[in-house]
Amino acid sequence: MSLPIRGDTLAASRCAKCGAHFFPPRHRCPSCMADTVEVELPREGTVLTFSEVHVSNGRFRPPYVVAIVELGPVRVPGIVINATYDDMEIGDRVAVIVERNRYLDEPDVWYYFVKK
Ligand SMILES: [Zn+2]
Repeated sequence: MSLPIRGDTLAASRCAKCGAHFFPPRHRCPSCMADTVEVELPREGTVLTFSEVHVSNGRFRPPYVVAIVELGPVRVPGIVINATYDDMEIGDRVAVIVERNRYLDEPDVWYYFVKK
């Protein structure tokens, strides 16, 4: 899976015509069919909701916390690496980090959230 990772942050796209944002990025706006431009996302966001995963697809090792984070103009799902379910609250601030996938041996870069 190819992720929209650009250096140490994430990218979304913005419709050049209507201004709608997309994550993961899309090449074309589904509403206007206009081309999009890539935009860099902020490195911090706010937790909108979260859950704890106990049964995984095998790519990640449960249990772990996943959150939907408002990151600038888009909502981004991700794993919160430094918190348990009981540590989390809606409205928490998290930072984005990009590093090698800590759940796999393969050299695969992934992004995570770190609760502040
Ligand atoms: Zn559009």
